[in-house]
Amino acid sequence: MKAHNFLTFLTLYTLGVSAQQTSAVDFTHLRAEVTIDPLKQAVAGDLLFTFDVLTKTDSIFIDAQKMNFSEVFLNGEEVKYGNDEKRFWLTGKFSPAKEQQLSMRYTAEPKQTMYFIRTSPQEEAAEFQVWTQGQGKNTSHWLPSFDDPAEKLEFDIAYIYPSGKWIIGNGELEAHQERKDSLALWQFNMDKPMSSYLVAMAAGDFENETRYSKSGITMEFYFPPGLEVRVEPTYRHSEFLMDFFEEETGFAYPWNNYKQIPVQDFLYAGMENTGTTIFSDIFLIDSIGYNDQNYININAHELAHQWFGNLITAASPEDHWLQEGFATYYALLAEKEIFGDDYYYRKLFKTAEELKQLSDSGKGQALVGRNGSSLTYYQKGAWALHILNETIGKSAFDLGVKNYLEKYQFATASTAQFLAEMELASGKDLSAFEKNWLRQSAFQGTEALESLKKSPFIQKYLELAAAKPFPVSDKRNLLRNAFRFPVNDYLGQEAVLQLALEDPVEVADLYKKAFSSGNLFTRQAIAFSLQQIPPQLKSEYEGLLKDDSYLTREMALYNLWMNFPEDRMEYLNSLQGIEGLPDKNIETLWLALSLATAEVPAASKRRYFKKLSEYTAPYQKFQVREKAFGYLYQLNAFDENTIQNLQEATLHHNSRFRAFSRELLKKLQEQGLVSGQ
Ligand SMILES: [Zn+2]
Repeated sequence: MKAHNFLTFLTLYTLGVSAQQTSAVDFTHLRAEVTIDPLKQAVAGDLLFTFDVLTKTDSIFIDAQKMNFSEVFLNGEEVKYGNDEKRFWLTGKFSPAKEQQLSMRYTAEPKQTMYFIRTSPQEEAAEFQVWTQGQGKNTSHWLPSFDDPAEKLEFDIAYIYPSGKWIIGNGELEAHQERKDSLALWQFNMDKPMSSYLVAMAAGDFENETRYSKSGITMEFYFPPGLEVRVEPTYRHSEFLMDFFEEETGFAYPWNNYKQIPVQDFLYAGMENTGTTIFSDIFLIDSIGYNDQNYININAHELAHQWFGNLITAASPEDHWLQEGFATYYALLAEKEIFGDDYYYRKLFKTAEELKQLSDSGKGQALVGRNGSSLTYYQKGAWALHILNETIGKSAFDLGVKNYLEKYQFATASTAQFLAEMELASGKDLSAFEKNWLRQSAFQGTEALESLKKSPFIQKYLELAAAKPFPVSDKRNLLRNAFRFPVNDYLGQEAVLQLALEDPVEVADLYKKAFSSGNLFTRQAIAFSLQQIPPQLKSEYEGLLKDDSYLTREMALYNLWMNFPEDRMEYLNSLQGIEGLPDKNIETLWLALSLATAEVPAASKRRYFKKLSEYTAPYQKFQVREKAFGYLYQLNAFDENTIQNLQEATLHHNSRFRAFSRELLKKLQEQGLVSGQ
C-alpha cells in the first residue's frame, strides 16, 4: 500500500481476535458467489470453503464481522455453527482429513472495507462506485475470510451486481452474463493462493485499454468513460515497469493478469490487491498534470508488491518492512531507469534527511518491529536494501532475492529467512548489517552520506546547499551556473530557493536567468517562492501562466492577481475554462478570485458562486470539496446549503478529509456563523 506523502499509516495488522489456526486447519480454496446491492449498501453470498484438517482439533474458525449465516453444511450435512460479532465457527471432534467442504449463506452490511461512493447528483437513480480496501481494514467485513495473512487460499469469486456496469475482481474474468433480472454476473478465477487482505473488487462506470508486457502478461488500464485522453499520461511506462520487475527479480510475474483501477475517494494513494491494484483517481492526470502529480511512483510501488507482499507475505507484523521496504526500494530502482541517477540519489538524499531528523530527535525506530511509522517501514526499509545492495554487490543481491522469492513463493517469510538467503548468495556474514540497519533505532547517517557522495550530482548539490548562509555577493557565480543549460531540476530549484532569501530587486538579473532557463521545476520554484513581484520581473512572471504545470499556473495566477490589481481581468481571462489537476486546483481558485474581483459583473458572480458551492456536494471528489470549502471560508461565503454539505463531510470515510471538515466546522461555529451542536 502507499499512503499519500504526509499520511502515516501505523497499524497494518489489526490486533485482537482473528482466526489463527493454521497449524491445525489449512483452508485451501474458496468458491463464492457474492451479490452486492449498492443502493442498500448490502452484501449477500453463497460460499464453499475447502480445507484440510492437519491435526486433531475441536474448533474451526473463519473471521466474519457482524454477519448473519444460514444453510451451513459440512461435507453435505447440515451442521450446528456459532458466530459472534467477529467470527464464525464450528465445534466438534475433527480428525485429520483432506478436502473438507464447508458451505454457507451469509449477509452483511459492511461499514468499512467495502465502500459505496455516490458519484452523481440525483438522489434517485444515483450512480455508484463500489470498491474495497482490505489491508488494515480486514476483508472479513464484507467476505467471510481470514484476518491472519499467513492463511493463504485460492479465491474464485463471482460477483452479482446491477447490469450495465464494470465489475473488476482478482484473477481471470471467466464469464460475464447480463441476466433478465437487470443484474449481471461476473465470474473470476484465480490459480494461486493468497492472503485475504488482498481480495478486492471495484464496480462502476469504467472502460479499459489492454496492453501486454514483453512476456505476454495482460495489463488492463481502467478509466472512467470520457477520459481516454488521460490513459496515456496516467499509465505511462506501465509495460516497462512490468518488464523491469520480471527481469530485476528474476521471477516471472506470478498472477493471471494485472489490472489497475482508479476510484473516487480512495483511502490511500494505492493498494496492491493481487493482480488488481486500486488507486486514487487523483492520479488520473493529463499530459500537463503528468509533470505535477504522475502515477509512476505509486504504479511501480504497487506492482513491486505483487512479488514482495503478495507472492511472499511477511511472516509477522515485525517483518512488515519486507513488504513496504522492498516495494519502496524496487519502485525507486525502476524510477532510476525512467528518470535517471540524479532522481534516485535526490530521493535517497531527501529521505535520509527525514530519517536523520527523526533519529536525532530520539524518535528513530528499528526496522524490524511492530507499529513502525511509514517513514521507517518504507524509507528506512528502502535505505537498508540500498546499503545491502552496495555491501554485497548487485549480482549477489539479485541472486539472493531470486532465491528468496523461489523458496518462499505463495507462503510467508521472516527477516531471518530473508537474511539467510542473502548470506548464502553473497558468502558474507551480514550480522553487522543486521545490527546497524535492521535492529538499531538510530539512523546510520554517516554511512548513508558516504553512499550518497558517490553521486556527482549529490556532491554539487551539497556544495550549493552549503552556500545557503552566504550573502549573494559571495555566490553569484555559483547561482548563475545552476541556471545554465542544461539545468538540473534540483540544482535549479535549490538556487531559486536561495534567491528567495534576498531582496528580489537586487537579484533581478539572476531571476531573469532562472526564468530563461526554460526548466519547468526551476520556474515552478519561482512561482512558489517569489510572492512580491518587482515590476521589472512582471512580464517574465506572467509567462508562468502558460507553463506545462498546473501547480505553477495556480501559484502564478494567485500571485499576479495579488500583485497587479489593474490586470486582474486579463489574468482571469487567460486561465478561464481550465480545470487543472483532478482536484480542480485552477478552476476552484479561478472561481474564488473571480468572486473577489470588483470588475466581474454581478450576474457572472452568481453563476460562479453556484458552481463553487456545487463543488462542495457529497458526490464530488473529496479533494475538490476540500478546495471549494477552503475558498468559501476565505470568501466568508458559506450559506445553508454549503454548511449542510460541510456537516455531511465531517462523517466522511477518508480520515484526513473528515478531520479537515471538522476543523473548519469548528472555526465557523467559533465565529458564530454556524450554531454549535
Ligand atoms: Zn506499499
